[in-house]
Amino acid sequence: MILAYDIGGTKVRVATFSLDGLLLQEKREIVSTNAGPQGFLNQLVQLGKSIVAEGRLSAIGVATAGPVDLATGSLVRPTNLSGGGVPWEQVPIRVALQAAFEVPVLVDNDAAAATFAEAQEGVGVGCERFALLAIGTGLGTGFWHDQKVLRAHPGEHTEAGHVIIAPHHEHRCGCGNYGCAEAMLSGFNFPKSIGTKYFGNELDGPTISKLARSGDGPALQLWAEYGFWLAVFLNTVCLLLAPEKVVFTGSVVEAFDCFAEPTRNALERLIGRRPGMMPELVRSKLGNDAMLRGAFWRAKNRQQ
Ligand SMILES: [Zn+2]
Repeated sequence: MILAYDIGGTKVRVATFSLDGLLLQEKREIVSTNAGPQGFLNQLVQLGKSIVAEGRLSAIGVATAGPVDLATGSLVRPTNLSGGGVPWEQVPIRVALQAAFEVPVLVDNDAAAATFAEAQEGVGVGCERFALLAIGTGLGTGFWHDQKVLRAHPGEHTEAGHVIIAPHHEHRCGCGNYGCAEAMLSGFNFPKSIGTKYFGNELDGPTISKLARSGDGPALQLWAEYGFWLAVFLNTVCLLLAPEKVVFTGSVVEAFDCFAEPTRNALERLIGRRPGMMPELVRSKLGNDAMLRGAFWRAKNRQQ
């Protein structure tokens, strides 16, 4: 049996899987941050203990929003977790889970884990190269290349969400820079960075999608602009890595019908002279389970 965690900025999911990938039991809770990093680690241990049958566990996989130090299995100054009146400098997830369960623990960035899962059993099966964009609160990225997830260098995952696509834009990213892909396009940011231009007061993503589907002019223009900025980002990705597919997951994928066509059109124009580099834009097959299943696959294939 494998125990898998999917840790986001607000929710944590935990599940047990059989070794051949069958989901056995699952639980989810709001992430506990009030008692600081130690309280958070205690929550992870207790959640795991509540669904693991004694003596049958062989490994643990964790997919978490970053940044993650892959070498130590720790969160390092997490972007979306804070609280308890203490700094969240190093949060040693692997050490805590290994001490509690006494099995190997593999901790990975959530987008990287989702990429791994899509390569094993999703839309990435049979692909030599694909890019995954997890667009939710933030914008996580993963790249499947040469039969593995591309790493920045040993111990680090890529951070393409902080590629700057609009340096003169006034909307600031959580990382401190202006005009990052994440600052322009994430579900949390795009209603502010792009949306306020069309709707003076800020509307949320689902409302904007609903308006666009009813033919509302400003909402359609907004998604066209969203598609343009996404294409600017994907143009860089395509020129560097030439993915056959770009796989979309995360909450913003609910608006795929609104942004896919404007993105495709803008990207075709930008790629222009190299039409062979145009990737297929597709929704994730695993959807909201991609990260959790990624945690399972990473634990099962610990060597990569
Ligand atoms: Zn940034």
